[in-house]
Amino acid sequence: MDFSGKTVLVTGASRGIGASTARQFASAGANVVLTARSESAIKELAAEIGQNARAVPCDVSRYDDISNAVQVACDSFGGLDVLIGNAGVIEPISHLQSADPDAWGQVIDINLKGVFYGMRAAMPVMTEAGGGTIITISSGAASSALEGWSHYCTSKAGAAMLTRCADKEGRASGLRVMGLSPGTVATEMQHEIKASGINPVSQLDWSDHIPPDWPARALMWMCTKDADEFVGEEISLRNEDIRKRVGLI
Ligand code: NAP
Repeated sequence: MDFSGKTVLVTGASRGIGASTARQFASAGANVVLTARSESAIKELAAEIGQNARAVPCDVSRYDDISNAVQVACDSFGGLDVLIGNAGVIEPISHLQSADPDAWGQVIDINLKGVFYGMRAAMPVMTEAGGGTIITISSGAASSALEGWSHYCTSKAGAAMLTRCADKEGRASGLRVMGLSPGTVATEMQHEIKASGINPVSQLDWSDHIPPDWPARALMWMCTKDADEFVGEEISLRNEDIRKRVGLI
């Protein structure tokens, strides 16, 4: 896969799936805009990648931050071809009836409103350019209720609907909008889930998780024409056929 001349903005690029995704796209020739709240981590990664990378501190729960990151992509590289809406949190894991109301809402601000803000900032730029790809990282939690995860399940279900809405409004303008549900991935988020001890996901063995470069490679594949049949949909990396199409098995 050759992404030379393409520009990819990744939210939540300071670690985990987002950092791996930025590395993969960059190694395939793309310009990458790395965003996250941890400024030193994205600056370090940008320095590792080289002159095709920009680090833009950004809290996705603030529209102005993500709008600024899209502007940096346009100013630095002449446009934006791909938005990977990856930033997300799962803490604080807690039962609904004892959840802190403000903290619950902050997860919605990041996982749901943050996805909307990214789409809102990127879609006009992509529409004007005649097309682009927006992929949001979804989860099995978008369609399954899990104990202690009411904030997370609700936010991911909403984000999945945003993918469908953005497809409905953007497809005719050349926008390819999709979701990727990666299964469980060996990242910091799984450490947090394990530490909670709540619900069956926390009981999984570490060896059950896939490495972060698997979703990264799937995201690259989803940007190619080979994945066009999935535009407007969410695909799951638990699906063996998808793994084969991506070249993972
Ligand atoms: P992770 O290692 O904890 O990384 C999360 C990333 O999101 C970090 O880069 C973090 O950066 C960023 N982030 C969090 N809040 C943010 C905010 N307000 N603004 C900007 N960036 C923010 O977790 P991960 O597993 O890679 O998760 C990535 C995505 O995959 C999430 O959407 C998650 O829900 C989804 N997912 C993960 C799994 C899994 O098993 N790991 C499974 C299904 C879906 P800063 O803290 O520096 O801001």
